[in-house]
Amino acid sequence: MDILTWPDLPAAQQPQWPDQTALEGVLTQLRTLPPLVFAGECDQLQNRLAAASRGEAFVLMGGDCAETFDGATADAIRAKLKTVLQMAIVLTYGASLPVVKVGRMAGQYFKPRSKPVELRDGVELPSYFGDGVNTLEFDAQGRIPDPTRLLRSYQTASSTLNLVRAFTQGGYADLREVHSWNQDFVAETPAGNRYEQVAGEIDRALAFMAACGADPDEFKRVEFYSGHEALVLDYEKAMTRIDSRTGNPYDVSGHFIWVGERTRQLDGAHVDFAARIHNPIGVKLGPTTSPEAAVEMAELLNPNRIDGRLTFISRMGAGVVREALAPIVEKVEASGHRVLWICDPMHGNTREGSTGHKTRSYDDVADEVLGFFQVHKALGTVPGGIHVELTGDDVTECVGGTLGVTEDQVGDRYETACDPRLNRAQSLELAFDVADYLLDRPRSGLR
Ligand code: PEP
Ligand code: MN
Repeated sequence: MDILTWPDLPAAQQPQWPDQTALEGVLTQLRTLPPLVFAGECDQLQNRLAAASRGEAFVLMGGDCAETFDGATADAIRAKLKTVLQMAIVLTYGASLPVVKVGRMAGQYFKPRSKPVELRDGVELPSYFGDGVNTLEFDAQGRIPDPTRLLRSYQTASSTLNLVRAFTQGGYADLREVHSWNQDFVAETPAGNRYEQVAGEIDRALAFMAACGADPDEFKRVEFYSGHEALVLDYEKAMTRIDSRTGNPYDVSGHFIWVGERTRQLDGAHVDFAARIHNPIGVKLGPTTSPEAAVEMAELLNPNRIDGRLTFISRMGAGVVREALAPIVEKVEASGHRVLWICDPMHGNTREGSTGHKTRSYDDVADEVLGFFQVHKALGTVPGGIHVELTGDDVTECVGGTLGVTEDQVGDRYETACDPRLNRAQSLELAFDVADYLLDRPRSGLR
């Protein structure tokens, strides 16, 4: 029996499941499956995010735009994890701040789309809404929403998280492994080179500490959390459980759950869902957000003003971030709400490249993060983290970076199922740039 009841509110971007009986069967199964994350872990993350909102830590969220079922291989998961761990090392070491690590992992199977249908060579089919709903392949049968894909989402999330937990707790993420995360193509890049220097310095510091007899446990394991957009509410509601300790509902499909730019209507079902669950939650804020709407959002989602509960993830675009974000931050802070401010420098900077692919420029990404830091510096508020789309592989989806993926190379290795991601070298380079911003010094560059 579903003990949770949900009001019937308008919900944007929901799949039109053709067979309600099949859907009900799937949801009944999902409601009884074991949780993917624990409520206590979500509370722990909320405490970490609260620290970041005070400037005592920095949040790094990263991973694919859209995870695919076939993409959940050990190699791909390890490569993504390595990228995030390397970025975190650069930030922790560079800025002397703890880094809270959240993967866009084990749940990014659902995608909002700007158009419900896709037209190719005169054929019109439903758009791809993520592997959790239908197929990327442009196929009439495959594009019909299939609720059994919700179960595959759960299973893929489960095996992904299992491996992530093994990697982060079982020795792979031990600080003494800092060099080994750099042992592939990335070592040959300018960012990899600079990373090698940092790793060398960390090694010497560790050897010194070991010689002094210190071998703290914190160096052997890494706290790593999962996050995804709560888009398909059938899945998220079926994964919501009452925590036996507190009696509060938690969405146990991931630690951190956010509401996207296209579903953040104040009177809509997604915001209502986020308001009811006790996970730490985020909301994407694009350039059309009014300062008043942001305050109203904070009232709805965090009426008790719990630190770490609410994160605003701004995604304005490099060209407008300085004007668009400042009035929002100012008004929210003046209202007395303390939210965690995070910058997503990806989604406001998507454009069509010369090869016809969706792309983003590294310089725009780095510039939006810089604008975000400048806004917070001018207001005396806290720039608490970044949220990026990245992969551990050597893809050519975003242009620029020191290695210089050119416009005409964008098609060469274009593997994303949705938006263009920073490759490993570009991700590492961004970490060095952000460490400079955190220390309030100009980008030192990699040469
Ligand atoms: C995303 O994070 O992949 C996404 C769709 O972002 P937004 O909701 O900000 O457009
Ligand atoms: Mn995206």
